[in-house]
Amino acid sequence: MRVVVSGGAGFLGSHLCASLLARGDEVVCIDNLVTGREANVATLVTNPGFSFIRHDVSNHVIVDGAVDAVMHLASPASPKDFSEIPIKILKVGSLGTHNLLGLAKAKGAKFFLASTSEVYGDPEVHPQPETYWGHVNPIGPRGVYDEAKRFAEAITMAYHRQHGVDVRIVRIFNVYGERMRPDDGRVVSNFIVQALSGKPLTIYGDGSQTRSFCYVADEIRGFLALLDSDYVGPVNVGNPNEFTVEELAHLVLEVTGSDSPIHREPLPVDDPTRRRPDLTLARRLFGWEPEVDLRTGLVRTAEWFRTIL
Ligand code: NAD
Ligand code: UDP
Repeated sequence: MRVVVSGGAGFLGSHLCASLLARGDEVVCIDNLVTGREANVATLVTNPGFSFIRHDVSNHVIVDGAVDAVMHLASPASPKDFSEIPIKILKVGSLGTHNLLGLAKAKGAKFFLASTSEVYGDPEVHPQPETYWGHVNPIGPRGVYDEAKRFAEAITMAYHRQHGVDVRIVRIFNVYGERMRPDDGRVVSNFIVQALSGKPLTIYGDGSQTRSFCYVADEIRGFLALLDSDYVGPVNVGNPNEFTVEELAHLVLEVTGSDSPIHREPLPVDDPTRRRPDLTLARRLFGWEPEVDLRTGLVRTAEWFRTIL
């Protein structure tokens, strides 16, 4: 297959490009490097099956030749980005998704959207099944991301219904692992960087809020299973084991052997209280199950961070 990956120089995108190449697919990576880095794909550029186009997909996208699949991952994704570049996020979720759907339609390619558990907002149903419509504040600080992704899902389904484009939508739940940005402000990268540099771990609020953290290799396996399936509609892909932020902080201190203290900071506005995927659909459709537990994944992630700090 010849696969276009938008956001391919980002955290998840670079792992996806590597996995596609490893199974023999050709990859055209499109990225404007707003939050990604060329270093993330440095080991791929010598692969003859890999090509890189530096471009903002919120503007018209041109790719020469045949394309079998378009995988749209381009979007800044950390809460820090929500306040720093909110308009870019809204544009890539709306205009960028429109442009890449247009590319998929023109090429007769499959379209794959990287959506998010954020479409559920601060959920009132727990764990979250795909049938839950969510609880999102459209005008809050996270609204720029949540609503952009909700629009992206809507236009993806519209292209399927009106133009017959073959579409996949993955709802991704908190992924961590090698090549996270050390300064992206997300909880796993923050805690590991703080622990390794002897600085206080910053717990926002009382630390009782929960997340379910999925190791990157498991997540990418889920992406490929969904891409190869024939299911149209959103599918949750994430780890079902739920941890409080407080528990995560102590686990990070343990696996890094750090004696950093804990420092409490205010809880950000609209921070979801709990989050855990209902995996019934992914299990039924393609028997997907995460394999890496949080401790093992954190050890691997911390090892990688040690090499770059
Ligand atoms: P990331 O910031 O590392 O990667 C996003 C990539 O997209 C970057 O390389 C960035 O430069 C690129 N990009 C952004 N806007 C662009 C534009 N207009 N044109 C071209 N390239 C652009 O983030 P990530 O964690 O790898 O996230 C990848 C995707 O997965 C995003 O769509 C995100 O919303 C989704 N997601 C991620 C998580 C997670 O836990 N990491 C959770 C839910 C959803
Ligand atoms: N968080 C924290 N300390 C940090 C960074 C984040 O306590 O240094 C909390 C944050 O308030 C949220 C959780 O960790 O409750 C996950 O935050 P992250 O930004 O990783 O992702 P998201 O909120 O989008 O799930």
